[in-house]
Amino acid sequence: AKNEGKGTIRFFDRLLDEKAQRRMALDSGMRKALETGGFELHYQPIVEIDSGEVTGLEALIRWKSNGESQRPADFIPVAEENSLIVEISEFVLESVCRDLENGAILRAFPKLESVCVNLSINLFRLAEFEERVVRLMRKRSVDPSWFTFELTEKVFIRDFRNISEKIDALRRRGIRFAIDDFGTGFASLTSLKRLPVDYIKIDKSFIRRVDEERDNAKIMETIVNLSDHFGFQVVAEGVETEGEFGFLKKISCRYAQGYFISEPGSIETFFNDGSKGGTD
Ligand code: C2E
Ligand code: CA
Ligand code: CA
Ligand code: CA
Repeated sequence: AKNEGKGTIRFFDRLLDEKAQRRMALDSGMRKALETGGFELHYQPIVEIDSGEVTGLEALIRWKSNGESQRPADFIPVAEENSLIVEISEFVLESVCRDLENGAILRAFPKLESVCVNLSINLFRLAEFEERVVRLMRKRSVDPSWFTFELTEKVFIRDFRNISEKIDALRRRGIRFAIDDFGTGFASLTSLKRLPVDYIKIDKSFIRRVDEERDNAKIMETIVNLSDHFGFQVVAEGVETEGEFGFLKKISCRYAQGYFISEPGSIETFFNDGSKGGTD
């Protein structure tokens, strides 16, 4: 028992070491992937519930390293600690522009209105962000109005004014905005009316068993009604079952995304059948 303390400290030292090492390995792996074309982009359809048409796609990054799929939830936070996130985000935006410009996306989804791209908060905060984005789209002759940028509620915690102004400037150029994972951050229902966005994407934890679970059902109904009032469109995320989808239709939720509709897949996997995604 006397040496227990020391052992524990050594144990935690080792854990920290492993964590730091894992971060460094991810970091150098991502640098290599950027150089060698190791990142890929997948798309997940967003369906307009009433018409059944795919009117949106969410771009999701994919990375295989040594034959193993790495999860964005593991490597994106590491990229966010330094400038890697800038290069990765530019890869994502460029890939979407390329797929729009060469007609691939519209061939697979003729009714498409918008492609959603996840934006890291510190990227969005960069002073030159607007200029870089606009330049990139112009280079590819892609109209900014094809894009919806997804931000989480966290972006509004500091500088609500400043962030809102940045969003408004981009919205004037035609880019739409969505709050991602709505309900998991600070935003309360009353703050909804202040958010300068076009869509709110309700986090999948509220969609889970929404057809059977009365709390989630009530929350979703309330959000859909309030959003109607404030002029947002609601996207339900992580819809996995027919029952969940049916409930969303019943309460007139506008859009749905999730495995029940389609998994994410490379654009090629959607060429023959717009309803089936793919490989992950
Ligand atoms: P997110 O933005 O909330 O993206 C939705 C996640 O839910 C994706 O995970 C998607 O594959 C997954 N998903 C879709 N339908 C279902 C469903 O029915 N059930 C369940 N359980 N999950 C579903 P993914 O691709 O692993 O991405 C995780 C997170 O990583 C994303 O969460 C986003 O925050 C981040 N991310 C992904 N791609 C990018 C990117 O290109 N840039 C940035 N900055 N972040 C990204
Ligand atoms: Ca998202
Ligand atoms: Ca989300
Ligand atoms: Ca998320």
